[in-house]
Amino acid sequence: MSDLRDDVRTLFTELTGRAPDGLWSAPGRVNLIGEHTDYNEGFVLPFAIDRRTIVAAGAREDAVIRVASTFSDEVVEIALSELDSARGSAGWADYPLGVAWALGRSGADLAAVPGIDLVIDSNVPVGAGLSSSAAIECAVALALDDLWRLGMSRPDLARAGQLAENEFVGAPTGIMDQSASLLGQLDAAVFLDCRSLDAEVVPLGFAAAGLTLLVMDTGVSHSHATGGYGERRASCEAGAAALGVPSLRDLAVDDLVRAREVLDDVTFRRVRHVVTENQRVLDVVRTLRSEGASAIGSLLDASHTSMRDDFEISVPELDLAVETALENGALGARMTGGGFGGAAIALVPIDAVSRIQVAVDGAFAEHGFAAPEVYPVRPSEGAARDS
Ligand code: ADP
Ligand code: MG
Repeated sequence: MSDLRDDVRTLFTELTGRAPDGLWSAPGRVNLIGEHTDYNEGFVLPFAIDRRTIVAAGAREDAVIRVASTFSDEVVEIALSELDSARGSAGWADYPLGVAWALGRSGADLAAVPGIDLVIDSNVPVGAGLSSSAAIECAVALALDDLWRLGMSRPDLARAGQLAENEFVGAPTGIMDQSASLLGQLDAAVFLDCRSLDAEVVPLGFAAAGLTLLVMDTGVSHSHATGGYGERRASCEAGAAALGVPSLRDLAVDDLVRAREVLDDVTFRRVRHVVTENQRVLDVVRTLRSEGASAIGSLLDASHTSMRDDFEISVPELDLAVETALENGALGARMTGGGFGGAAIALVPIDAVSRIQVAVDGAFAEHGFAAPEVYPVRPSEGAARDS
């Protein structure tokens, strides 16, 4: 982090000829459990990780917003008054520009606030399912909230990040990632009710239990998965409609008996995933509180089985990573994210980390799969002003 801070400060000064007014940062996230439950108004349990995006920012005397990132050579500059007509046109810069635009939609008077220079650096892997997009949105949102003296709450800043991603970038994502990035705390997860948006911090105690969480990034791109994701959402909506409920959130595990009678087999299995996954999130939260992290492994395993067999969104690489981690001492493991690629996670004893890394590498090589990236992440602080 201190390297990132020095780099971003230097870059800011190179670009603007002055020192930044301050530094703000926000983390990526991992979702411990609760997959495809967000758009069904259910529960998720993400945590902020020790990978962050850092923003050096300073007010300008004019009404221009200028953004630069170590991610790209291009520096993008636009008048605040022109943001609305520039939606979706600036590639990576749509993320920070979209946040400025979204704050304008949620209370900031873009005709009255000063212009801003923003320089961004990050060690959140991009496109690995750790939400580099929320990290950049939340770091920028916090910086602008301070420099524009908006005094917005963190849940409101999370909504602004989501609005930026949905309406400015054009990606139909939920509120989970921004909530984790803004509300996360050291060694804890954020238990989020995606219907009420109530959020509760739940201590994880991984380190005290001698555990850590491994991300196993298969490198399999899920960019071709848009169709599959849309299809799953449509199945969930069809299932809820056939059962006469506003969303699958309104069904309990006991309702599955009736669901089996009413629905075709495929829709039934999609519904069963969501309904049991919601229950598993509740069970993980309860188990963390009563018995601690070492007791949640079987719930993670059940989540994977449900996504593999009922929701049918796994791929051989994800199944192999999960199986290999479990065979080599993981307490629990599951694929994460939208599916069809991306990463799996495993809850592992700290002393088993290297054995599992070697075993997963070996298993992928044996199957002729591209080398995965396997590394631990720590539950960490949410977005903050750093200086
Ligand atoms: P992820 O799973 O990492 O969130 P997304 O596709 O949602 O993947 O978001 C990744 C995009 O966010 C990148 O392609 C880029 O446009 C933008 N982004 C993320 N981090 C940065 C950064 N440090 N600098 C500039 N743009 C970034
Ligand atoms: Mg993202």
